Amino acid sequence: MKKVTLIPGDGIGYEISESLVEIFKAAKVPIEFETENAGADVYEKTGELIPNSLYKSVEKNKIAIKGPITTPIGKGFRSINVYLRKKYDLYTNFRPSRNLPGIKTRYENINLAIFRENTEGIYIGEEKYENDEKTSAIAIKRITRKGSERIIRSAFEYAKNNGLSKVTVVHKANILKFTDGMFLEIAREVSKSYEGIELEELIVDNMCMQLVTNPERFRVIVTMNLYGDILSDLVAGLVGGLGVAPGANIGDDIAIFEAVHGSAPDIAGENKANPLALLLSSLEMLKYLKLNDFAENIENAILKTLEEGCKTKDLGGNATTTEFTKKIIENL
Ligand code: NAD
Repeated sequence: MKKVTLIPGDGIGYEISESLVEIFKAAKVPIEFETENAGADVYEKTGELIPNSLYKSVEKNKIAIKGPITTPIGKGFRSINVYLRKKYDLYTNFRPSRNLPGIKTRYENINLAIFRENTEGIYIGEEKYENDEKTSAIAIKRITRKGSERIIRSAFEYAKNNGLSKVTVVHKANILKFTDGMFLEIAREVSKSYEGIELEELIVDNMCMQLVTNPERFRVIVTMNLYGDILSDLVAGLVGGLGVAPGANIGDDIAIFEAVHGSAPDIAGENKANPLALLLSSLEMLKYLKLNDFAENIENAILKTLEEGCKTKDLGGNATTTEFTKKIIENL
């Protein structure tokens, strides 16, 4: 039995992780969850935002699934997510998006994965004022060969493993010739070692237009940290919004799967939360663990449930979290 660290998070995190645990149990997934929590609720009880036992569990199991955590204001560091990403060098932010049945959107055949570099670039927030009057400020954009090469390889490996013939690299190298220029150059180099996979190059502004006019033509996108942050929300919006957007932060050794949305304090505890984003993240986790049959079984049950019109309020339905979960279990 593979052990996985379950970090429920807070806010709606409790409800959606309960849904996940119940579905995994009903589907007889050979995984044992080791529950360890972090965040404001844990801080109230223990005075620590991330307890030592959580680190130990993640380091032992190498794989975790995590609910959303409210970012505490003024308590040490900015975000637990950003902290874990950094600590474990989880350099690949993987964000797949696709159309789901029963969720009406403007486009019908979207199925694409964004590979966002997670550890460097301007997103890291290295900024300072340039003078005492604070009339001028600068931010550093640092791009390295190592950082670029490993994320680009992740994207190409994914394309190779999924039989896809094109990877699109998104950049602004026409203006940022050193930083984005290097990223693009490395994409060209890496692509040479993947026969049969074409490298498509698109400038980020053009990419935005292409994504809202013709998103079906993309399957794998690789880009730097800030562009990836923005583009992945854009794509999530194209397929139905935050409630259906899964994600993962993956390094060489450790991977943490999580929904993209936050702790939704406005609906927490009301049995209204949509567990889909966390469930879809868990399917990616099962595939990562090579438990593809279990992933497929749960996926089919989710698709059937949506086809039957059972969905939570954020998607225009009227099912509660527990009703939606129950229906998925019935459809397993
Ligand atoms: P949010 O994603 O929590 O909520 C935005 C809106 O979307 C809300 O109206 C919410 O009700 C709705 N929503 C989100 N997820 C939903 C779901 N699964 N089902 C139904 N409705 C859903 O964003 P926010 O309000 O800006 O953030 C709340 C807190 O979460 C903040 O402290 C933020 O820092 C934190 N946050 C954490 C993570 C994470 O842990 N990965 C990610 C983003 C935000």
